[in-house]
Amino acid sequence: AEVTMDKLVSLCKRRGFVFQSSEIYGGLSSAWDYGPMGVELKKNIQNFWWKEMTQLHENIVGLDAAIMMHPRVWEASGHVANFSDPLVDCKECKNRFRADHIDLSAPCPVCGNSGTFTEPRQFNLMFQTHLGPVKDDKNIVYLRPETAQGIFVNFRNVVQTSRVKIPFGIAQVGKAFRNEIVTKNFIFRTCEFEQMEMQYFVKPGSDDEWFNYWRERRMGYYEKLGIRGDRLRWHQHGPDELAHYAKDAYDIEYLFPMGWQELEGVHNRTDFDLGRHQEFSGKDQTYLDEETRERYVPYVIETSAGLTRSVLMVLSDAYEEEQLEDGDLRTVMRFHPAVAPITVAILPLVKKDGIAELAREIEAELREDFNVFYDQSGAIGRRYRRQDEGGTPYCVTVDYDSKEDGTVTLRFRDSMEQVRVHRSELAARIRKEIKE
Ligand code: ATP
Repeated sequence: AEVTMDKLVSLCKRRGFVFQSSEIYGGLSSAWDYGPMGVELKKNIQNFWWKEMTQLHENIVGLDAAIMMHPRVWEASGHVANFSDPLVDCKECKNRFRADHIDLSAPCPVCGNSGTFTEPRQFNLMFQTHLGPVKDDKNIVYLRPETAQGIFVNFRNVVQTSRVKIPFGIAQVGKAFRNEIVTKNFIFRTCEFEQMEMQYFVKPGSDDEWFNYWRERRMGYYEKLGIRGDRLRWHQHGPDELAHYAKDAYDIEYLFPMGWQELEGVHNRTDFDLGRHQEFSGKDQTYLDEETRERYVPYVIETSAGLTRSVLMVLSDAYEEEQLEDGDLRTVMRFHPAVAPITVAILPLVKKDGIAELAREIEAELREDFNVFYDQSGAIGRRYRRQDEGGTPYCVTVDYDSKEDGTVTLRFRDSMEQVRVHRSELAARIRKEIKE
């Protein structure tokens, strides 16, 4: 059976992945909270990305910049003037739409009336607030609508303190805020979300080569994460979509339950960002190549992915309903073992005769290395199903034989195969399975 958004939302609620924000007050539209399972999944995806960027590239360093920045940043970046979406209202049913998402000559998609749209007007997506007790125009600040600018304004700091040499990158994960006109599709598009961005600074002229490198590398990352290849594709920005500063831009799209949608952008931003910050701040943003003595404003190749959107992608991709031979239907979340919220479940076959105590010992041994969940209640088959639905890749069952010879049953989520492993070899075996 195909995964639908309704099925995902209901699994997420049932198993503690994602809850609606402020639910006991009727909920806040388009805001979501990550529950005990969701927070683990989100952190694991973030760590997977962070490792790919920083640990596997010697020349990429991390950063964690503030959400609130000097208001001039957003003038320099162009967000104050340009970061807006065209908005229309239906005069009949009062619903609001993004003008670029609907056909304005067609009837209203909600009430079906024709010719009832207002003229499009530009609506800036940045959330505004005031810093300090006085609310006037002099102390307006914005919640950042993207994490990238925190990287650009720290370019000099990083060059001066980290011994990095071009080409090099700065990676960052953090919250971003956009007052989106239309939020729907669960956590796909929300006003508060998280981004995982990496800006790679290169010498002008080498930008095409690095652009290609990063395109390949980013698609390879999703393959590493185990995402189904037939649900990933490239979309190149046409001349009408290309941002004014971008030389070339590709999006990685994923086939979500509601269709193909952007997951990540890989963009050649040229020297636009550093050039603008040099102009607006009056601070030199050039880089001196010590070998050739050349001085230039670097070009930027950007990879910009949504973390919360990646959570939805990973959930959609993992979801499967499988018809078993015994007639049962099992729902199984086939997460990559490195991002599964729980790595190992410890399940004593029975509680009595010291089996539970033995299982607790094994649990303690594994806890240092893995995210472990202990469950001793209910029939073993039902306990396996619960773990399948939560996406736990490995279950360890402790039984009477375990007391005799120290072996346990290791059960694999995807194949449901079971093997006997000695408890002293369990941690190494699981570590090996995760890597494969
Ligand atoms: P759109 O045109 O769909 O509004 P965008 O092209 O402006 O999106 P970018 O500015 O390129 O998006 O943002 C980079 C990434 O950040 C996107 O690929 C997406 O994964 C994520 N992202 C952007 N806006 C949101 C949002 N409102 N909610 C969740 N994730 C978002």
